[in-house]
Amino acid sequence: MTDQTHQPRIERSDLPMIALVGRANVGKSTLWNRIVEERRALISAEPHTTRDRNIAQALWRGCMFEVVDTGGLDTEEDEMGRGIRRQAERAVKDADLVVFMVDGRTGVVEEDRRIAKQVRKLNPNVILVVNKIDKPRDEEILHERALYSLGLGAPVPVSASTGKRVGDMLDAVYNLLEALDRRPPEAEPK
Ligand code: GDP
Ligand code: MG
Repeated sequence: MTDQTHQPRIERSDLPMIALVGRANVGKSTLWNRIVEERRALISAEPHTTRDRNIAQALWRGCMFEVVDTGGLDTEEDEMGRGIRRQAERAVKDADLVVFMVDGRTGVVEEDRRIAKQVRKLNPNVILVVNKIDKPRDEEILHERALYSLGLGAPVPVSASTGKRVGDMLDAVYNLLEALDRRPPEAEPK
């Protein structure tokens, strides 16, 4: 249950939180849906589980964490855009681990570099994920210098829409959380 007396912008539990970040259309929402799919189905029947639409619990290898789809670091400079952006920045800052996503189809573009720079200032714990690696042929992008020049380490490939290698990515996330002393707790047995 959440603590109503203390209200940060994003309602959160003490589970480790990962934030999905990246420019529009890299596949944040698709990956978010894939990661939280199972857990959301499990919790949807319970009360007290209503949260911001874009944050949900996920279960991986029997352990629980939270995933937030930030989706707003690239919004317009109008009033609503600024509000959404502030929320996204808050989520990046608060996250235990940031999953920075790029589109493996388009490769790295200027907007990716801009957001990566911003993210590195807000949170040093970032894993670089290259999405839309649907087929072996798509893997060529993984050798591009531009990916390494983001300064976020070696890229981890996934295909959010097919689900390929999402499990390997979650293993990497789990290991990093553990290394950061934020090991996801085991879900309570039914
Ligand atoms: P967001 O703006 O970052 O939330 O991106 P979305 O999740 O809305 O995805 C943007 C587009 O990319 C949609 O048309 C998705 O179907 C497509 N997409 C997402 N993941 C993949 C993937 O792994 N492979 C391919 N080929 N397309 C994807
Ligand atoms: Mg989205």
